[in-house]
Amino acid sequence: MTDRKNLIVGNWKMNATHLETIQMVQKLSYRLESEDYARVEVVVAPPFTSLRSAQTVIESDHLRLILGAQNCHWEESGAYTGEISAPMLAKLSVKHVIVGHSERRHGLGETDNMVARKARAVAAAGMRPIVCVGETLEQREAGEAESVVVSQVLGSLAHLDPETLASSSIAYEPVWAIGTGRNALPDDAGLMAEIIRQTVADKVSSTSANGLRILYGGSVSAGNIKGFMAKSNVDGALVGGASLDPDGFAAIVRYWV
Ligand code: PEP
Repeated sequence: MTDRKNLIVGNWKMNATHLETIQMVQKLSYRLESEDYARVEVVVAPPFTSLRSAQTVIESDHLRLILGAQNCHWEESGAYTGEISAPMLAKLSVKHVIVGHSERRHGLGETDNMVARKARAVAAAGMRPIVCVGETLEQREAGEAESVVVSQVLGSLAHLDPETLASSSIAYEPVWAIGTGRNALPDDAGLMAEIIRQTVADKVSSTSANGLRILYGGSVSAGNIKGFMAKSNVDGALVGGASLDPDGFAAIVRYWV
C-alpha cells in the first residue's frame, strides 16, 4: 500500500489563447466536485502566455485546479532569448513543470542531460518536475523499449536528490502513442511503470521509488483511462489532445464513475 495521490495532468501544448484559457479553466472547474479533488490532483498546463490568466482565475474563484507548465530553461536568468526560467513559473503559482516531453526531445533535440538540468531547476524553484520518457516505434519493434526507457530515466533524473525524487513524477509516454489515437495496452503501460519504479528503487532508494508518481501518457481518453488506472504502478495520466475539451477531460479525471 502507498499513499501516492492520483495525478492527472492536462498538457494543452500550443493551444488556447489567454482568453480561451479562462473559459476552459472555468468550464473544467464547473464539472468537477469535491470528491474528484479528494481522489485526484488535477493539473492543467496551458501555454506560457496563458499562465497568468489561469493563475488569476484559479485564485480569484478559489478553484482547486493546480497550475502546471510545459517546459522551462535550466538557468535562473540570463541571455537565453525566448526562454522562461523555473523561478518565473514559481512566481505564477505553478506547481508542476513537464520536462523532456517527446515533442521536445525528438522535435527540438532535447537530451537527457538537458532534461536532468531542467528537472533540477524546477525542484530548486520549489516546484515538482514531471519527467517524460518513452520509446519510439522503431525502438519498441527492435525490442529496445525497456532499455531505452531505463536509460532515459537514469539520465533524466541524474541531478535530483532522493528526497526530491520522491515528490516528482515520471510520465511514461511511448512516442508512437502520443497524438496518434493509438494508446499502449494497459498491461504494457503497467509493466513499464513497474520497471521504472524498480529502477528507481535499485539505483536510488526504495523511499524515492515509493513516493514517485508514475503517469501513463499517449492517446488517453475517457474510454481507456480506467484500464491504466487499474494498474498498481500507474498513479495517473498525462493527457494531451483530450484535455482540450473540458467535458472530456473531466470525464477522464472522474475515471471511476
Ligand atoms: C501528451 O501530450 O503528453 C500526450 C500524451 O498527448 P495525447 O494525449 O494527445 O496523445
